[in-house]
Amino acid sequence: MTPTDHEEALRSRGLRVTATRLAVLGAVADHPHATVETILGDVRARLGTASTQAVYDVLAALTQAELLHRIEPAGHPARYERRVGDNHHHLVCRTCGTVTDVDCSVGHAPCLRPTDDHGFTVEEAEVIYWGLCASCQQQPATTAAHSR
Ligand SMILES: [Zn+2]
Ligand SMILES: [Zn+2]
Repeated sequence: MTPTDHEEALRSRGLRVTATRLAVLGAVADHPHATVETILGDVRARLGTASTQAVYDVLAALTQAELLHRIEPAGHPARYERRVGDNHHHLVCRTCGTVTDVDCSVGHAPCLRPTDDHGFTVEEAEVIYWGLCASCQQQPATTAAHSR
């Protein structure tokens, strides 16, 4: 994605193009599933300076505008990604917190149906598959147990 793509994305949502918004979109595009900490570092590298609050505000606005997707695995910091609107799911490692994309299990959103929808119109299903990533599985079990 080029800076021009980010500008068009902002305009398509009726958002003003600002240096901070472009930097945040660029940071998240370059670091899929980035934490706020990573995004802050990258935005500061791009702009020279940016306040934490400004970056949080932009993240909230872009998430609301559906230009970013926010994932919140329980017990791990929130992460942001630019891949929006395709109802993909995530694998999350319990040990190191690595997040990996996986496509929908079946067909289009919602790819999963509740056994009873209680009258809801279901639009989306967001699945987190918890487990251990390939590299954490390589660690001796004792090390993993003690690092908790
Ligand atoms: Zn891991
Ligand atoms: Zn993802």
